[in-house]
Amino acid sequence: MKKNKDFLRIIVENDLKTGKYKEVITRFPPEPNGFPHIGHAKAIYINFGIAKDFNGHCNLRMDDTDPVKENTKYVEALKNSVKWLGFDWGEKVYFTSDYFPKLYNYAKELIKMGKAYVDSLNEDEIKEYRGTVTSAGKRSKYANRSIEENLELFDRMRKGDFKDGEHILRAKIDMSASNMKMRDPLLYRIRHAYHFRTKDEWCIYPMYDFAHPLSDYIEGVTHSICTLEFENNRELYDWILDTLELKPPRPYQYEFARLDMNYTMMSKRKLLELVEKKIVSGWDDPRMPTIAGLKRRGYTPESILNFCEQIGIAKANSIVDVSQLEFCIRDDLNKKAPRVMCVLNPLKVTIINYEGSEEIEASYYPKNVAKEGSRKVPFSNTIYIEKDDFAENSPKGYFRLTPTQPVRLKHAYIISCEEVIKDKEGNIIEIKAKYYPESKSGQDKSGIKVKSAIQWVSQKEARKVEVRVYDRLFKSENPKDIKDINPNSLRIIKNAFVEPAVIENKIYERFQFEREGYFYKDPIDYSEENPVFNKIVGLKDSWTKKKKISNDKKEIKKPLSKEEKKIFERYTNNLKLNYKIANILSRDKQLSKLFEEVLSMVNAPISVANIIANEVAKELKISKTLNFTAKEIAQLAQMIESKTISSKISKQVFEKMVKSGKSPKEIVEENNLTQISDPAKLEPIIDEVITKFPENVIKYKEGNKKIFGFFIGQILKATNGKANPKIVNEIILKKLKNNE
Ligand code: ATP
Ligand code: MG
Repeated sequence: MKKNKDFLRIIVENDLKTGKYKEVITRFPPEPNGFPHIGHAKAIYINFGIAKDFNGHCNLRMDDTDPVKENTKYVEALKNSVKWLGFDWGEKVYFTSDYFPKLYNYAKELIKMGKAYVDSLNEDEIKEYRGTVTSAGKRSKYANRSIEENLELFDRMRKGDFKDGEHILRAKIDMSASNMKMRDPLLYRIRHAYHFRTKDEWCIYPMYDFAHPLSDYIEGVTHSICTLEFENNRELYDWILDTLELKPPRPYQYEFARLDMNYTMMSKRKLLELVEKKIVSGWDDPRMPTIAGLKRRGYTPESILNFCEQIGIAKANSIVDVSQLEFCIRDDLNKKAPRVMCVLNPLKVTIINYEGSEEIEASYYPKNVAKEGSRKVPFSNTIYIEKDDFAENSPKGYFRLTPTQPVRLKHAYIISCEEVIKDKEGNIIEIKAKYYPESKSGQDKSGIKVKSAIQWVSQKEARKVEVRVYDRLFKSENPKDIKDINPNSLRIIKNAFVEPAVIENKIYERFQFEREGYFYKDPIDYSEENPVFNKIVGLKDSWTKKKKISNDKKEIKKPLSKEEKKIFERYTNNLKLNYKIANILSRDKQLSKLFEEVLSMVNAPISVANIIANEVAKELKISKTLNFTAKEIAQLAQMIESKTISSKISKQVFEKMVKSGKSPKEIVEENNLTQISDPAKLEPIIDEVITKFPENVIKYKEGNKKIFGFFIGQILKATNGKANPKIVNEIILKKLKNNE
């Protein structure tokens, strides 16, 4: 049982304590019209998780009331997904279609009570009569039919006397109810269609709002947990059960926020479109957000359950960052996956002073991972390294092999480049290298300093493999349809090489390919003859970050010229800029000139220097010319000074400015980026975050003051970075104190 109970667990616990129910029964009720996705994983985790925590039971129920879209393939996919996540639905899978006879009788009950009638308006008329949110609806003239007439018509509907849409059964509630769902909702419709289970037995099918509460009741469900969009259906849920005066106990409906994730689409209808239009290879394409897709990609059930645990259960909708899911799989595999070597883009290296061959014993895990195991890695005078790991004209901060810089071959020796061999076009095709016999990993007596270790494989023993590298399926953060697909979401590398142990061992399915990421033997296409690996997720991209820092460090070390030094001193002493920023500006004429120019327009040295040393400097590296002037920078700095925008948001504004050429003012207005400083607006957001993470409040109280930053981060996230951090700081501090 979790330490901190969410609102659903609090309700369940209370209902058991007060004796409202003897045992908790939940259900997961998918419609078998598609493969379940990561959003369903959340619903599965909640329903099965709660049942498990309270020693109850969770039913797996196929909500199969729409014969046209449903089939057995999807039933199997749903079962597989639930099972794979580690949950158990017990003896049997339930189907709403098993209750068709019972539901039919309940409907007749309602007719006999005068609470339901057969309507004969057509679809358009029904819509028109329903009214709008602001105006009452109008009841159909057919609502006056006698009970006998209604029973007879309903019976004939069932017998197949009418065409689709000719009649419909409705509840008789209130055509002027403020809740539109209560305006004589539809209960049964005619649909002459083959059903994958009941075949041609029925030509009328119950609507969700009628079938769902009754199916819950029939199964003895106690807590009917669904997503927020069903909030308005709850009144009808209650009406059906109460009107029929069913023997207690009856179930109650509770809603939670559905999972929504960026760069992902989470509607079965749209996912089906991707499959049908063959944009993906199937429901289990490793780029799909389906459970089958994630499984095939190489995600573990543990990582997905962990993700569900992390996102928690809330009552307000929000969008989860897909990197949170990626974090969970990385975190899981970091502890489990053996590290091996793979070369994706091979460059031949011949070691001219090495003769013969040897096998090097290499551990599968680094010292900080509490796992053991090793393999033998063959070594010889002909190896492959990654093309990227050699640079003839190396950029600053490049730590790998260059004509003048040696590098370590991971687990093996240090090598240095003796000769670069090129083809006619000038492409590097081979490196002649020298190795240092004294430098063997673990017993290095060579005294040679290297800055990094790279992966390699011995040519003769290496095994050729296919590697499928996936990127996000959608290029936009909030994809609307297929137009937003990322055309580069799949890259197939046919000629990658792995060390032989990867293929020969029969234990491991997932590996960390050193310095590349985590990979999985494709469960369908992999064979020993044609090994295929899926890239699950990359390692944290440390290279780009490292490169930046080392560059900065180097530059700081190079002594300043006399003139530069003068500027530097003025910046630090008079203008109070920090050393790093002053250092960047004083070394670069273009930047310092711009800085002075902007400073003559707005007296805000620190804000201006920050923008120029960070944003402008970065931009100059990419584009050489700037499509903005000192005036725009002054305007941007002015907005930070006046607290119109936060400095965090200013980065976004700058980016947009560079792209669009618009002024910062226009951008802030168009995108509604104004900073939120009003405590009255911030307080409710802060309250919500504090209630959402009670465990972190406790940690704070117990003295972990670092957690404070977590809260700030959450608020910034909730406001898309627009909250004024200073005000947020003050409010949180006050609230956490009060909580103490
Ligand atoms: P879709 O919109 O993708 O077709 P759905 O809600 O129609 O999904 P169902 O098969 O009816 O799919 O869903 C089964 C259960 O899963 C329901 O209880 C539903 O509330 C829940 N569910 C569906 N999508 C999500 C989601 N994104 N987050 C959490 N729960 C979800
Ligand atoms: Mg649905």
